Amino acid sequence: MKKVAVIGYPVKHSLSPLIHNYWINKYGIDAEYGYMEVRPENLENTLRNLGINGYSGCNLTVPHKVEAAKIVDKISDVALVIGAVNTIAIHDGFLYGDNTDAVGFFDNIINYVSENNLKDSFNIDKAVIIGAGGAAKAVAASLAASKTNKEIVIVNRTKSKAQEIREHLAFAVFEGERHNSDIKIAGWDELDNVLEGANLLVNTTILGMVGQETLDINLDKLPKEALVNDIVYKPLETDLLRQAKKRGNKVVDGLGMLLYQAVGGFELWFGIKPEVTKELRQLVEKASLES
Ligand code: NAP
Repeated sequence: MKKVAVIGYPVKHSLSPLIHNYWINKYGIDAEYGYMEVRPENLENTLRNLGINGYSGCNLTVPHKVEAAKIVDKISDVALVIGAVNTIAIHDGFLYGDNTDAVGFFDNIINYVSENNLKDSFNIDKAVIIGAGGAAKAVAASLAASKTNKEIVIVNRTKSKAQEIREHLAFAVFEGERHNSDIKIAGWDELDNVLEGANLLVNTTILGMVGQETLDINLDKLPKEALVNDIVYKPLETDLLRQAKKRGNKVVDGLGMLLYQAVGGFELWFGIKPEVTKELRQLVEKASLES
């Protein structure tokens, strides 16, 4: 039997076992996906012994993603750019690290666009990313890597963090090629104005999440055709999405990113690209509301 686990500290809140065990059952794989609570000081030892202990790989959650990127033997381009690893597969005894948040974000958007027949009318010429934390890095890297995006504006309360992402992405290489996105940064006081001409607006801050303040934003300058995505998925409909929907924008919630980021790991460990079904989404939505 193959074994995989999510490693975190704490870890019991993670929805990854629910997602992966759903697919393990669906595809009839002889495997189990569990939890592993590991203190930061024990991370390296745990990762080095994964193979010996019969694991095919793992996922990493808070607070291990950045440290894991320094431990793995080989790292994907996108995980290197983001500086964080959320998925590890063991190949010939070596630890291969990837970051599937980036592809999860992008696939969620692409899936929405194709399900809603927007392919011919939707281009991501200008994307505005609110926030400059770990998730923002993944979103910015995925847009740059997609090579479909011309302009990315990163707006953050602490402007220096947005500047760091900009500098880091400036020399990023994806599959041997430099990207050609023009990355700009803006301060918190410029948020409402930078929305002008945007096709995509993404909130990657914690604002709007259960227990946090709401995101104070005026959407007047955002074109009505723009797609608005909040990667916060608790609640599923944040104030930002409600406000955007009310003025006629199409909106995408954050649960899809969580589901699509899991696809890459499952494929690495088990060699099957699993399907994100409506049934799985309902299951995870229910568990997320209960947790
Ligand atoms: P993080 O690294 O801690 O970054 C937090 C971001 O929120 C920073 O940009 C921070 O700005 C901003 N922020 C916090 N409090 C603020 C305030 N009062 N006013 C303005 N900005 C504020 O967190 P993260 O890992 O990027 O995660 C961010 C969110 O994304 C979380 O809600 C997480 O659940 C969600 N997420 C969702 C998925 C998914 O699959 N859907 C995946 C990853 C993350 P400063 O830099 O100024 O502090």
